[in-house]
Amino acid sequence: MTKLDLLYIPDSALHEKAKEVSSVNDEIRDILDNMMDIMYEHNGIGLAGNQVGVLKRLVVIDCPIDEADEEEDAESLKYKMVNPKITWHSKEKTTRQEGCLSIPTGLADIERPTEISVEYLDEKGKKQTLKTGGLLSACIQHEIDHLNGILYTDYLSKLKRDMIYKKVKKYLKGQK
Ligand SMILES: [Zn+2]
Repeated sequence: MTKLDLLYIPDSALHEKAKEVSSVNDEIRDILDNMMDIMYEHNGIGLAGNQVGVLKRLVVIDCPIDEADEEEDAESLKYKMVNPKITWHSKEKTTRQEGCLSIPTGLADIERPTEISVEYLDEKGKKQTLKTGGLLSACIQHEIDHLNGILYTDYLSKLKRDMIYKKVKKYLKGQK
């Protein structure tokens, strides 16, 4: 298949709602693999379909483990999620600094529910449920926002958002 490319703001695909995937087939698995490659290429910890111009509800994650996940026996938490859906979130919230591959150089403190439960289909099309806190929880929430056309900068004041966008524009211009 054709190689996908990472999209940056202000690409309109970043503000569109991605569609449910009806069947997890080879085409979907190909896209997920491609997305993993792009995520690693740009040193990201998560990537959503919208960010590569694929308006399907697809998310890949390779998230470092933090204290909240220390019971996990792995170096990082790697997931390919199809149609991920948050089915529960804690009332307690945590603020973390977030960045986004589509908004290079941008960073901001974002408050989100600390813990979530998420349902998704894995790359074999099997239904999975995951309850998690820590960085992984924030990461999944950030990626599901992407599928709904929401960027973390949408939670900021216009002033702060404009500042970040200006910086990104300058950065991207320098990359060309
Ligand atoms: Zn992002």
